[in-house]
Amino acid sequence: MSLTQFGPVYSGRASAVRAGEVILSLVASGLVGMRGWAGVRRLQQPYDRSLQLGLDRLAAQCVQAGSSPPVGVADLVGVWCAERPVDSWPLEFDPDAQVSGERLLIGGEPSEFCQEWAVEARDVVAEVHENALVKHIKDTAAQLGRPELYARWRLFVTEHAVLGPDEFLAAKNAVLDVPQWPTWLEESYGPVTVEASAGGQVAVCGGCGQWIAPRANGRVRCRVWRCVQRHDLPEPTWTEAQGARLLEPELVRFVALPGRPELDLARRLAARGARVVLYPKLDALDLVAFWPGGHSIGVDVKDWHSPYLLARRIKTFPRWGSGDPHAYRRGYLVVPRDRLRANRSYMKILTQRSKALQEQPHIEVVCDDDLVASCPDLGVMGEVICGP
Ligand SMILES: [Zn+2]
Repeated sequence: MSLTQFGPVYSGRASAVRAGEVILSLVASGLVGMRGWAGVRRLQQPYDRSLQLGLDRLAAQCVQAGSSPPVGVADLVGVWCAERPVDSWPLEFDPDAQVSGERLLIGGEPSEFCQEWAVEARDVVAEVHENALVKHIKDTAAQLGRPELYARWRLFVTEHAVLGPDEFLAAKNAVLDVPQWPTWLEESYGPVTVEASAGGQVAVCGGCGQWIAPRANGRVRCRVWRCVQRHDLPEPTWTEAQGARLLEPELVRFVALPGRPELDLARRLAARGARVVLYPKLDALDLVAFWPGGHSIGVDVKDWHSPYLLARRIKTFPRWGSGDPHAYRRGYLVVPRDRLRANRSYMKILTQRSKALQEQPHIEVVCDDDLVASCPDLGVMGEVICGP
């Protein structure tokens, strides 16, 4: 075999790591980007360009490493992504990236590991903002001088994955003084597709509360990481598909699923007597919480599988003057406890890897349980609200 040079020549460990990350991101986003993905058997479908780019670069690395490259997209997807853990690929990774044993496809579906590396190819925040509806609602709420409308919409979609015809009508009529509200709901919920239903019904996961599309074999099992981990996952409930509406898949992934741990934390703080404001100032933070005695906190909840990738996403916490109704005394970045249980190095990697955390030593990184336990408990019920 002639050693033709493909692409740039990487030298030095940092650039080798960077090259490996670029390939992983390209392949992962290619897998996630495959529309109508139905497993490795349906490869004749046109595939994402980034998959081809990833394949080309991976092949070049294999040649450099003297190992056999994947022989085409089918081999890359069906064997490399579905069967081989990423640490067996001839690429170099930072140990903190924790690629050991991770596969990009599990049961023919992009794994959580794959989804986070796919997002790494773009920018997760930009991606949510790119969602025209989310941006439109934010902008309109700002123009109306009613930022709480954005929080209210977000709270609603997080709590409602499937709506029957009557519920949908009631939801559209819930905010009568805002003529845009019914349109927002029309655009957030689509009719039930054939792929999303089974036997005229839609399944809703008993764990995460999201609708579940049945698999090709008719089985209904939630693929959300937290639900897959649970041994006591309640059976799904079933709703009549006729006339029902489903939360758009993009909103499930970028709004409703991340919203669950945020809402869960908000309720636990309220149960200790706090007044909890969700998504203050159009999502500048996930929540701020106030206790009558003067204790106040600002919180961002981050529910990521990879601390290595999360470390790149941490933002600067906003600081509001004491006259501001959202001003808080202490800032926290909260990681759900089950993420830490699943990965003993999580906190260490996150704090060592994040520049934003090093630049903001006053921001504490804690798990949800520890934060709740450190807050006052007045023995009375507080509230969770969407505006100041
Ligand atoms: Zn679930």
